[in-house]
Amino acid sequence: MTVLLSGRWSAAEGERWAQLLREAMPEEQWLLHPPRDAAEAAAVEVAVVANPEPGALSGLPNLRLIQSLWAGVDRLLQDPTLPVGVPLARMVDPAMNEAMVHTALWAVLSLHRRFFELQAQQRQALWQPPPQLRASECGVLVLGLGELGGRTAQALAGLGYTVHGWSRRPRELAGLRCWHGEAAEGGLASALAAADIVVNLLPLTPQTRGFFSAERLAQMRPGACLVNLARGAHVDEAALAAALDRGHLRHAVLDVFQQEPLPPDHPFWPHPQVTVLPHCAAQTDPRTAVPQVRANLAALRAGQPLAHLVDRGQGY
Ligand code: NAP
Repeated sequence: MTVLLSGRWSAAEGERWAQLLREAMPEEQWLLHPPRDAAEAAAVEVAVVANPEPGALSGLPNLRLIQSLWAGVDRLLQDPTLPVGVPLARMVDPAMNEAMVHTALWAVLSLHRRFFELQAQQRQALWQPPPQLRASECGVLVLGLGELGGRTAQALAGLGYTVHGWSRRPRELAGLRCWHGEAAEGGLASALAAADIVVNLLPLTPQTRGFFSAERLAQMRPGACLVNLARGAHVDEAALAAALDRGHLRHAVLDVFQQEPLPPDHPFWPHPQVTVLPHCAAQTDPRTAVPQVRANLAALRAGQPLAHLVDRGQGY
């Protein structure tokens, strides 16, 4: 099969992925540049992509699969020229799942045990041990119970936290109380009001864009903390800054932002109640991701079900 590789990445990153994919799948014809003529475009059956430039996948009449190397497909779905009717598979990478659990555990432990405040106290030579709460006395709400959120919620429950989770459809996960859907809005509001720490692992869809509005932030418990590891567009950043400044929220750990890289003059950089991460909570690991691509190409060739297909209607 002819496989088009297309991504918005540095030359070095693109070359690295090209080399690993070609080594793992030497039987495929890898097209590493946009098709130069109609014959090259007609040959392409699969596109392996990493947030390609809008329009990069149009004009491929024989395309049978779009395989994303990244887990989030929100940018891809925003491209109005994305071919309709072609299956779109996203990356579900075991090493990335594990990395996300690590980041979320670090953030929750640091907020629960007040390690960010202790770090700030060190700079002022302040010796002030904080009160020590048990994990069970700390309520954590995980929004999104999919590949990343489900694992994160269960890992937190395993450490003894009182964990609630929220998803679109009903879910049952051992060790936590699960809420779901729009009908559970009352449940969501009370879960938000009860949580000391809210961890966001929702996908970015038309339904979840702007989820953390001023109104939702106001529903959070006074002194609560927000951990956003999903997408910057989930959060009204001005409303979050205001909620932190007036003391309604205690701290925010943010890995993702409306604009990335975060502009140097953004108020979150110097904010004492904000911990900024450069969108590194969990990255696709080629060592475990390339075999996922290989498996899906093999399934396509054999006419077998494809893994991790995106429901375009739902946006994730
Ligand atoms: P996923 O497996 O698709 O899970 C999404 C979860 O969100 C599901 O539980 C889903 O409910 C729930 N959900 C979707 N729409 C909802 C709504 N309107 N109301 C309530 N719940 C809703 O996604 P994932 O792999 O866990 O990834 C989550 C997000 O993490 C990605 O989309 C991406 O934006 C982000 N991410 C960030 C990084 C980083 O480094 N910061 C890395 C990778 C991914 P159902 O269970 O009912 O379907």
